[in-house]
Amino acid sequence: MKTVTVAHGDGIGPEIMDATLRIIKASGANVEFDEIQIGEQVYLDGNTSGITDEAWDSIRKHKVFLKAPITTPQGGGYKSLNVTMRKTLGLYANVRPCTSLSPFVQTKHPEMDVVIVRENEEDLYAGIEHQQTDDVVQCLKLISRPGCEKIIRYAFEYARHFGRKKVTCFSKDNIMKQTDGLFHRVFDEVAKEYTDIENEHWIVDIGAAKLADTPEAFDVIVMQNLYGDILSDVAAQITGSVGLAGSSNIGENSAMFEAIHGSAPDIAGKNIANPSGLLRGAIIMLNHIGEGEAAAKIEKAWYKTIEDGVHTPDIYREGSSVKKVGTKEFSDAVIDNLGQEPSQLNVSATSAKGAFKLPQLKERPLARKELVGVDVFADDKDKNPNEVAKRIKLIEDNGLELLMITNRGVKVWPNGFDETYCTNHWRCRFMPTDGSTISKADIVQLLSNAVENGVDVIKTENLYEFDGVKGYSLGQGQ
Ligand code: NAD
Repeated sequence: MKTVTVAHGDGIGPEIMDATLRIIKASGANVEFDEIQIGEQVYLDGNTSGITDEAWDSIRKHKVFLKAPITTPQGGGYKSLNVTMRKTLGLYANVRPCTSLSPFVQTKHPEMDVVIVRENEEDLYAGIEHQQTDDVVQCLKLISRPGCEKIIRYAFEYARHFGRKKVTCFSKDNIMKQTDGLFHRVFDEVAKEYTDIENEHWIVDIGAAKLADTPEAFDVIVMQNLYGDILSDVAAQITGSVGLAGSSNIGENSAMFEAIHGSAPDIAGKNIANPSGLLRGAIIMLNHIGEGEAAAKIEKAWYKTIEDGVHTPDIYREGSSVKKVGTKEFSDAVIDNLGQEPSQLNVSATSAKGAFKLPQLKERPLARKELVGVDVFADDKDKNPNEVAKRIKLIEDNGLELLMITNRGVKVWPNGFDETYCTNHWRCRFMPTDGSTISKADIVQLLSNAVENGVDVIKTENLYEFDGVKGYSLGQGQ
């Protein structure tokens, strides 16, 4: 008997979890549950992480976690527990299937069958943010090559395992040439190893528009964390309701299953929430732990209930629905339908196949890394870049010269435009004019000169070349 850790969560969490557990128990699945408490009450009891040590122990021991949505209290320094759990447990792949249930659930996209594979550990979700001047704050977007490779390989393996034909990559590499550029490059490299699967790349903005308009053009889409977070909600919503989609968070050692939606405090306690998202998360979980028979039985009963037109208010529509029911009544109907077959909707391929072996990273040699310059960021309330440049030039030393100054990424010195609005946050690029490499001591000397000359340095970024390729972006207009 497999033990699954379960958390009832906040808002509509307890209602949809009760419904889901009742259905799993009635299906005869070979599982038992270890219940833990996480979320709002734990936060409000003074634990800013929202999870106790005992709860961590259960999740790490059983390695399979079914989680209802939780509420992250606003402000107060509370960190999102969802993000903490995904990252702490190394659950790098967030898989969100979004499939239309036409004609039973109304949607403008009856042919839609898209799986969003979202990177789950990196990107702006590192939560590394700093205020640097009175006017300017920063959020660090961290993307790693292993992080890209793991999620992209996962997407291709997923496609191969579940008989899908195409993997699409969304990125914004026309603007973020380093971060999104790396994601796209790794995608192209990995895609070459999967000749049986079609591949393509879209710039995320037009890709998102196409997804919202013509989702049937896509099969599996792999994305970084933020784009995947936003677009999986869009994808779920346009199948009929955000309340319909479940998701898995998969890592090397453990896995977490949930609905994609949040705790919906606006409808909590009213017995009107749709439990389908969490139930579908549970179906993916049962497949993952080898309980494929129970998973298929539940999925068929759920499809039958949807086909019968027994719908919660979020998907109830006059004409296509037959009976409007609450959370509990919906789950009663699914239980009554256990053992029955749907007439039109097909059990998903995931039900038949179960989990697959996670792909391994390829070893690669380290590149030759050379320090070729430094960006010194300074806080200066002067609005005139030429005046700022005069002060910054005073710190030049050891052949390191001020090459350019940018403000919010745009080159404003030399030869800036009067029209460009300048904040008090100046990036000053120093490089040797003869193109030679520099040392860390040269940077220390620059900073020492800055202190002596009253230049308010807020941070520095080293400029490297890797195997002779620039590892930094140019200023816009440079
Ligand atoms: P939400 O997903 O909770 O709700 C958005 C809208 O969708 C609401 O109108 C809600 O009533 C509706 N909705 C959501 N699930 C539904 C369901 N099962 N049936 C019917 N209608 C449903 O998003 P939100 O309001 O932005 O967030 C509420 C809280 O949830 C926040 O504290 C947020 O931090 C948290 N959250 C948690 C998770 C998670 O635990 N994985 C994910 C997202 C948001």
